[in-house]
Amino acid sequence: MDCNETRNWLHGYLDGELDLPRTVEIEQHIEKCATCTQARDRHRALQELLRGASLQYPCPDHLRSKIQTTVVRKPLSGAARPDIRYRSLAITATLLLMVGGLWFAIRPVYGPSLNNRLAQDIVASHVRSLLADHLTDVASTDRHTVKPWFAGKLDFAPTVLDLSSEGFPLVGGRLDYLENRAVAAVIYKRRKHTINLFIWPSEDVPAKALQLTTAQGYQIAHWNEAGTAYWAISDLNANELGQFVHLIRSPRHGGTGNDKSADAALD
Ligand SMILES: [Zn+2]
Repeated sequence: MDCNETRNWLHGYLDGELDLPRTVEIEQHIEKCATCTQARDRHRALQELLRGASLQYPCPDHLRSKIQTTVVRKPLSGAARPDIRYRSLAITATLLLMVGGLWFAIRPVYGPSLNNRLAQDIVASHVRSLLADHLTDVASTDRHTVKPWFAGKLDFAPTVLDLSSEGFPLVGGRLDYLENRAVAAVIYKRRKHTINLFIWPSEDVPAKALQLTTAQGYQIAHWNEAGTAYWAISDLNANELGQFVHLIRSPRHGGTGNDKSADAALD
């Protein structure tokens, strides 16, 4: 940086308005240039002089009150009023849009439609199944072993699928207790991650669309289909749990989206 440039930037430099690289450049130049050092000192002295109390003129009280009464009393002109009205309308609309947008953004997590208490129970059941070394009552990778095991223990037949070729091998089944009733827990794996899929008949009609949420660090997916409630929970990432849910719901695998008679026909 030469003397010309330094002078051009000097005011901004003294007002602290420049970015760091430019500030450093100026300081490096001033350090080895006596002329610019003098210029800087002159400007700084002037700046301090202007800031000094001797140049300040306090507003007299009578002038202050006169200004205040004039500002308060003066009615808005006809032209100004609609302008202000539209402006406040625009601000209100913008705020509403922002609040609406925020609500949509956090809805999957905190939406009132999601049963939070039940979600907590689902987490508790999932954690218990992992901690107490009681993941399965029937341990088998064969759906033709797991599905019949539930018969006689539950008053419904839960969906049990073979998703091993998709990377979600079946591990087994377990009886669990949720919503004051016995429910089916069908367990799948994804690498080292355990997925509990809780299934029970649900009164909720019509079908509830898929909802994704997180609770205590777990991913939870919930949907209702054909009078049945499904809750899938895992410490998998949201993408992979979503993939799992997609497979469970896919008719191609005899999933929950399928005609139940087709599923039953396989057994
Ligand atoms: Zn210079």
